[in-house]
Amino acid sequence: MSTIRLQGGRLYDPTHGIDGVVRDLVLRDGRIVDLPAHEAVDQTIDVTGCIVMAGGIDMHTHIAGGKMNLARLMLPEDHRRGFDPAPLPLNPLELASCGHCAPGTLQTGYSYVKMGYTSAFEPAMAASNARHTHLEMGDVPILDHGAYVMLGNDELLLDMMTRQQPIERIRDYMAWTIHATKALGVKVVNPGGISAFKFNQRRLDVDEAHTHWSVTPRQILQTLARCLQDLGIPHPLHIHTSNLGVPGNIASTLNTIEALEGLPAHLTHVQFHSYGKEGPHKFSSAAVELAEAVNRHANISVDVGQVMFGQTVTISGDTMRQWANAPAGSPRKFGGADIECDAGCGVVPFQYREKSYVNALQWSIGLELFLLIDDPWRVVLTTDHPNGGPFGSYPHLIRLLMDKAFRDEQLARLHPDVAAHAPLREIRRELTLYEIAILTRAGPARLLGLSDKGHLGAGAAADVAVYRVQDDIEAMFTTPAYVFKDGLLVAQAGEIVATPTGGVHFAEPDFDPSIGKTLQSYARRHLTVNPAHAVIGHDELCSCGRGGRLLPTACFPTSPLAA
Ligand SMILES: [Zn+2]
Ligand SMILES: [Zn+2]
Repeated sequence: MSTIRLQGGRLYDPTHGIDGVVRDLVLRDGRIVDLPAHEAVDQTIDVTGCIVMAGGIDMHTHIAGGKMNLARLMLPEDHRRGFDPAPLPLNPLELASCGHCAPGTLQTGYSYVKMGYTSAFEPAMAASNARHTHLEMGDVPILDHGAYVMLGNDELLLDMMTRQQPIERIRDYMAWTIHATKALGVKVVNPGGISAFKFNQRRLDVDEAHTHWSVTPRQILQTLARCLQDLGIPHPLHIHTSNLGVPGNIASTLNTIEALEGLPAHLTHVQFHSYGKEGPHKFSSAAVELAEAVNRHANISVDVGQVMFGQTVTISGDTMRQWANAPAGSPRKFGGADIECDAGCGVVPFQYREKSYVNALQWSIGLELFLLIDDPWRVVLTTDHPNGGPFGSYPHLIRLLMDKAFRDEQLARLHPDVAAHAPLREIRRELTLYEIAILTRAGPARLLGLSDKGHLGAGAAADVAVYRVQDDIEAMFTTPAYVFKDGLLVAQAGEIVATPTGGVHFAEPDFDPSIGKTLQSYARRHLTVNPAHAVIGHDELCSCGRGGRLLPTACFPTSPLAA
């Protein structure tokens, strides 16, 4: 492979504390290398006056799995020419694909890459749907990818906990699940709540008992977080907390942080979990409370799940909460599913409106969280695509975070009660390019344990985005001048110029294989699938990923595992 020198760019590489330093960057054999200035290269690209960052990493975006397909089915209008704001691709490298809030797999890859993103992670893979998820992610061109498997509502785990099985057995079951589904991490959605919904519970707070299994969300959180830590999985428990979207849910969110007792954890789409119930509308911002809690707890990281105005579709494993949200659907549709006593989902199309008090406040709460959490390494830029809005809105969101005057202008257009009283009005902070590089690359790479991603040091994957400096930050981040994936130029000035196949990240924890007996006996009584057939091997994973590279992540167990 050729050696490329990017000459004269201004580098933002927070992993190495590099903040806008003018320096050449050399890409060789898919990696970033140290090469003395006098050594010859095959190609030199002049990027003088441009900003150079590692490729963007979206650590929470619903790009695959059953839910996104249901959303595509429910929103045919999203796939109609003319509805999509993007023009028809005239580039022969781009196969026909479209969609905005529920894009096709091809469109997903093209759109991310054109924006300078090179990795994306599906956060809610149902274990029994893992094959489909890998096939669908593998169909997304260019992007490296991976998925977090859902646990915490599966009947086997709840059954093991109710019968007070030793934590080592539960840990083996978790490790087997990660191994079988080739997951990178574990997500828990509304701990116990998806299961409780099937037993006619319509809410489940952190210390409320499941009517059938008698366990509480607190116990589930502690069990899962501890097992993951013991297994040495780099990404800690990924938590969608109880009571999504409910006014006053800040209490459950703070209780969840406290329930973790210092164990590392990642709280996802926290915007949807930072609501008070003050004021005439009985719905208020609790961003200050959550930000203070995150600032105090170094074990907690978050992604925001920012709300952006316009049409989207909400897709969540949280059947309980999506059932409650169904009447607000626009267009008025709802789909729900449950699979193999394992996990559920609910799909509700939705329009976020500037003049809606609730939506305007949600928008404001998200921005407040970004700006009030002190440590940028523990807050990640997401819209929970497509739940808060499609990922294509990231450049606009970056401008909102970097430009107080622009933010105020937008705020003034919102529902008058929000425009007049939102705590956001008083926040003067404007994020810097260095901080944006943390929120969109360096931070998520570190939180996922991807040591060769998210930075520009020698040995890193040569995933690089080069942005031509413009006064309009939104325009700058919308269309990078150059995007490289593993050292190959894949996009130039908004055009796809190559479509390599991305790789798949997954974790490989150790476990005691005798857990297989438990799985077999449970499956015989309750499931349709033989667990021996559920395991996705390396060859199959490779073929699911259309031959893309397998990228296993090292595990560092903190406690001795069963031999
Ligand atoms: Zn979620
Ligand atoms: Zn999500």
